[in-house]
Amino acid sequence: MLKGKFSFLKFLMTVVMVLAIVTEICEIKASAEDIKSSEIEIICLFDMDGTLTPSRQAMTEKFAKWFYDFINKNETYIVTGSDIGKIKDQIPENIYEKIGGIYASMGNELYKKGKIVYRRDFKPKKSLLKRLEAYRKNTKYPGQLYPNYIEKRCGMINFCVLGRDCPNEARVEYGKWDAVNGERLEIQKELTKLFKELDIVIGGAISIDIVPKGFGKEQVADRVRKTYPKSLIVFVGDRTEEGGNDYSLAQRLLQLGNSEVIAVKDPEDTIKCLENYMTKRK
Ligand SMILES: [Mg+2]
Repeated sequence: MLKGKFSFLKFLMTVVMVLAIVTEICEIKASAEDIKSSEIEIICLFDMDGTLTPSRQAMTEKFAKWFYDFINKNETYIVTGSDIGKIKDQIPENIYEKIGGIYASMGNELYKKGKIVYRRDFKPKKSLLKRLEAYRKNTKYPGQLYPNYIEKRCGMINFCVLGRDCPNEARVEYGKWDAVNGERLEIQKELTKLFKELDIVIGGAISIDIVPKGFGKEQVADRVRKTYPKSLIVFVGDRTEEGGNDYSLAQRLLQLGNSEVIAVKDPEDTIKCLENYMTKRK
């Protein structure tokens, strides 16, 4: 009986010792990560469509070569409204595997080395869905319409009167028509008035992103700043102007400080601007 008590005590002591060692290892690991993140001088965030790739198209070979070299030298993240499926279609696998992280669906999901780190979602009101149906039904766009016009993504809705399953020519045609007729702008204004709890943002070439306040790209600014409290954060995007889908992130970063925003026109311009920027910093 006494022997039994002793061996139980011995077992308990062993468990306590093992726990102490494991805790110590975790603490060492955590402090090493803290040091690592505070030592990184500059964190680069890139929008995807229109910044790293042509809108909804794969990254060009020339750009991929330049970008792979860039992410090897700089701690880099992608921040995009697209979901992970579309990102995989547009970004080459070597970049997807190598990059610091990918904030997908407006930052409502984070992927690192192909694995999900976190995910947050929301349920749209029926009144919102009804109104989107009405916009599609009553559009004055004279061309053909395509399926998949309300696309539910993690933490957001992407609405596209034309329909996302359209061929590229239709996308270009609608984009031109919308630039003259301002359909997306009109929808954006109306929805903003009706649904105060939502952010309505013109995104990409043909669609509108609908996101609950706080679920937009701006959340990435707070998350990245928390991970890298002392680093300079540089954000590169093609729609950083007011009303554009990079605007909220750009503004939040500037508000938090020690951040810079680089506005670009297209992927070619991204290479030019970043090379100039990095040369000036040397
Ligand atoms: Mg863009």
